[in-house]
Amino acid sequence: MQTLHDDERPGISRRRFLAGSIAAGTTALWARSFRVTAAHADPACPAPTGFPNGIELYRQAFENWSGEIKVDSLWTCAPRTAHDVVDIVNWAHAHGYRVRPRGMAHGWSPLLVTPGTSCDTKVVLVDTTQHLTAMRMAASSPAAVTVETGASMETLLGYLEQRGYGMTATPAPGDVTVGGVLAIDGHGTAVPARGEKREPGHLYGSVSNRVLSVTAVVWDRRRRHYVLRTFDRAHPECRALLTHLGRSFLTEVTLQVGENQNLRCQSFVDIPAAELFADPSAGGSRTLASYIESAGRVETIWFPYTDNPWLKVWSVCAHKPSRSRAVTEPYNYPFSDNVPNELSTLADQIVTGRGELTPAFGRMCQAATIAGLAATRSHDLWGPSKNLLLYIKPSTMRVRANGYAVMTARSNIQRVVSDFTSSYLDRVAAFEARGMYPANMGVEIRVTGIDVTNEVDFPAACPPALSALAPRPDHPEWDVAVWFDVLSLPGTKGANEFFRETEEWMLERYSGSDAAMRPEWSKGWAYTDEAAWANPTMLRETIPRAFPRAGSAPGWAWAMATLNAHDPHRVFGNTFVDALTGAGPRAAAT
Ligand SMILES: Cc1cc2nc3c(=O)[nH]c(=O)nc-3n(C[C@H](O)[C@H](O)[C@H](O)COP(=O)(O)OP(=O)(O)OC[C@H]3O[C@@H](n4cnc5c(N)ncnc54)[C@H](O)[C@@H]3O)c2cc1C
Repeated sequence: MQTLHDDERPGISRRRFLAGSIAAGTTALWARSFRVTAAHADPACPAPTGFPNGIELYRQAFENWSGEIKVDSLWTCAPRTAHDVVDIVNWAHAHGYRVRPRGMAHGWSPLLVTPGTSCDTKVVLVDTTQHLTAMRMAASSPAAVTVETGASMETLLGYLEQRGYGMTATPAPGDVTVGGVLAIDGHGTAVPARGEKREPGHLYGSVSNRVLSVTAVVWDRRRRHYVLRTFDRAHPECRALLTHLGRSFLTEVTLQVGENQNLRCQSFVDIPAAELFADPSAGGSRTLASYIESAGRVETIWFPYTDNPWLKVWSVCAHKPSRSRAVTEPYNYPFSDNVPNELSTLADQIVTGRGELTPAFGRMCQAATIAGLAATRSHDLWGPSKNLLLYIKPSTMRVRANGYAVMTARSNIQRVVSDFTSSYLDRVAAFEARGMYPANMGVEIRVTGIDVTNEVDFPAACPPALSALAPRPDHPEWDVAVWFDVLSLPGTKGANEFFRETEEWMLERYSGSDAAMRPEWSKGWAYTDEAAWANPTMLRETIPRAFPRAGSAPGWAWAMATLNAHDPHRVFGNTFVDALTGAGPRAAAT
């Protein structure tokens, strides 16, 4: 398996891609995304043979979010229906190809495409975003929406809003697909505020926990080919599909939703980190835990070498408070979605060797935030949930992120946060003493509930097996998860070493007595000093152990066997997914 290294910053290979295409007499270039039809293919990159008729097939460049995985040209197709998907998968099985369902490619981990993939790799990307986007209300009480998995979260939330429905919390970007979000247990930030009663259809865990039924492409042992099969939430095998880490292909899901809520989002930039993240024994009144108690929904972004994090506090608020500004659209922090030239110039200098500029960079990020909040009157916003839950646009700065969820008891949140932040500061200081500044985009912290089934409006619902929020029956007291991300600019020297040390510290500190950690699947984890997703012990032992079998609840091994049974030919996967989910003996196909 190839992995990414600190110093690997492959340039955009558009020139090479175009050269190959032009040499082949290509005229049908799609400038938007370097797209070439099969008819005009480069002879060096021949089209897969026998591909199902009538399904658009073309070569397209691939780039993941941070730009660290780039492939000049990959065969990609755009099925119009779920039955087209089945045809593609059966073709792939017969021709020795693998299939990668592709949403927006807005992730970091190589669950979709691995570095080293090339036109020679026998893989076809299946772009769900072009046609598999239909949605309809499936029920009104309790409310549920049926949606094809290529729909974006923004479109889905807009559709729901028009009908009076919404979600409690969602990933911050709207341009991620339902299928992409479910693959990795996408989450926002929310636990119930003190005294808050859960409204029907609302829940505090991941989007995966909203699934009431899922239609997946699975192997039919009797008919000896892949078929569409729908699993409802009570079906035991549904557990493995709710978050599947790239080992399945979902075409359609039904999600529970609730009556839309109006939210207020207040921003604070005047609370010192020393107070917000204080040791719980200090007894401060402006701790992160205190905001969680009062509002339930928080996020902090703490720029490097600054004292006061940007704290966002969302609260459910039916009527507009007089001081709030009503918003009618999402993405209300334009200053964080559009990076000023001075900042991007400084960022370039930092990654090209001027690490010592990092403190100035952190202060500039903070100053831009403070000025932006004031200029756009965004300290206190109010409106329908979608407009407050979606706040990251693709134009935001492209950074690397590690990511972990630390499960713990609600009463322990401040302890978990305080320990993390003081260890982080120690590590920053130790690296600085060596002249290194690897964490140059700071830290983000959010808190969610767990994927408990008593929040799912489906009789005998099964919990997700592989969600980072999958309940731990051996620790029923762990009712929340604190999500930590440390961010850095792609190409930053020493970042992998910093992330590796952070991960080791977290594994030791959150080792199972009062808390335990799991990876945030879409982000960075399993670090060595050279690369992410590369530590074999983490991949083969630590992660499976984080999903233990407990009582009647099956663990990691069961989930792997179930996913294998549904795809015994491993059509869905790549070399990294194989390493993570074990390409060992295949379970008997059902
Ligand atoms: C700036 C930024 C901010 C983010 N913020 C958040 C956040 O707040 N909360 C959060 O939870 N996540 C967040 N993420 C992570 C993001 O939600 C995930 O990376 C998500 O997987 C992206 O969706 P996508 O459509 O781009 O999926 P892709 O990257 O295209 O695919 C991701 C995985 O899902 C699989 N997949 C896609 N469609 C299907 C399908 N139909 N069936 C089966 N598998 C499928 C792919 O094969 C791949 O394995 C953020 C990402 C970025 C870039």
